[in-house]
Amino acid sequence: MRITALAGGIGGSRFLRGLLRAIPDAEVTVVGNTADDITLHGLHVSPDLDTVMYTLGDGVEESQGWGRRGDTSAVADELAAYGAEPRWFTLGDRDIATHLLRTRMLTAGYPLSAVTEALCDRWRPGVRLLPMTDDRVETHVVVAGDGDGQERAIHFQEWWVRLHAKVPARRIVLVGIEQAKPAPGVLDAVAAADVIVLPPSNPVVSIGPILSVPGVRDAVTVAGAPVVGLSPIIGGAPVRGMADAALTAIGVPTSAAGVAELFADLLDGWLVDSTDADAVPAVEAAGIRCRAAPLLMTDVDAAAAMARAALDLAEEVRAR
Ligand code: GDP
Ligand code: CA
Repeated sequence: MRITALAGGIGGSRFLRGLLRAIPDAEVTVVGNTADDITLHGLHVSPDLDTVMYTLGDGVEESQGWGRRGDTSAVADELAAYGAEPRWFTLGDRDIATHLLRTRMLTAGYPLSAVTEALCDRWRPGVRLLPMTDDRVETHVVVAGDGDGQERAIHFQEWWVRLHAKVPARRIVLVGIEQAKPAPGVLDAVAAADVIVLPPSNPVVSIGPILSVPGVRDAVTVAGAPVVGLSPIIGGAPVRGMADAALTAIGVPTSAAGVAELFADLLDGWLVDSTDADAVPAVEAAGIRCRAAPLLMTDVDAAAAMARAALDLAEEVRAR
């Protein structure tokens, strides 16, 4: 079975790990979000691609869900001693090797997709990991200025990591998205899939940018395969992270049904957590087959059960 997933970082990769446990022989293509990418100390960092790669390659720091297991911060400490900015984003020592290699290959002219493939040669994540685009796209967040009334746009990472999404986002802007082209293989993976999955990733800043790459949303909408998604929102709140702040910025209610509505044009099926079973009728009224199931990824087995539930739902809508 060919499964194509559109994934962000932690929520996406934990789900994918469950998917591989549930269906070990599935051919999985992951279209990863690259709008979180940022250049730090001259290094090209791709947080979501790396989270998928490290998690599926068994190299992730499980306690935080991102970064390299057991990493240290000698380089970051030295940079801080120089007073080098930004200080709010710490790169681990082991992690830096990944960014050095990525930056070196990009500088030599390789596209991000080729670089990602090369990095995955080491990690063997068990999926084909494609960046959504080889072009530069960055999520910026427009916030009120400091006292002068002037709005300013800051990189998503600064809003998320430094400001903890506490400063209200007036708008979320995907810089570069209009010129971006899907990376090689992305549209084919969507068209050739037997099932297309939206894991419980951030709908605004993870799945949103992937679908916003020109051509991707249309490809998903016209694909022959059922499109099923899992809610990242349980009981009216994100399971972790600050997706509520991002949803509020685009005027979408922080609820399992609210997120389903955001993707209503492409979803055939939607899973909500058992505690949100009362949302099922509203989602079904929007023409999306909806089921309630436990959606907390407490361990890999729980994520595997979620993957099975998603594929069961895909079969159900396919038979319709
Ligand atoms: P990020 O790029 O690291 O922020 O990761 P993603 O975009 O892939 O996923 C973030 C989303 O995952 C957040 O909105 C969380 O609510 C959601 N999430 C994290 N853990 C779980 C879980 O166990 N169950 C569900 N349903 N959602 C989760
Ligand atoms: Ca991310």
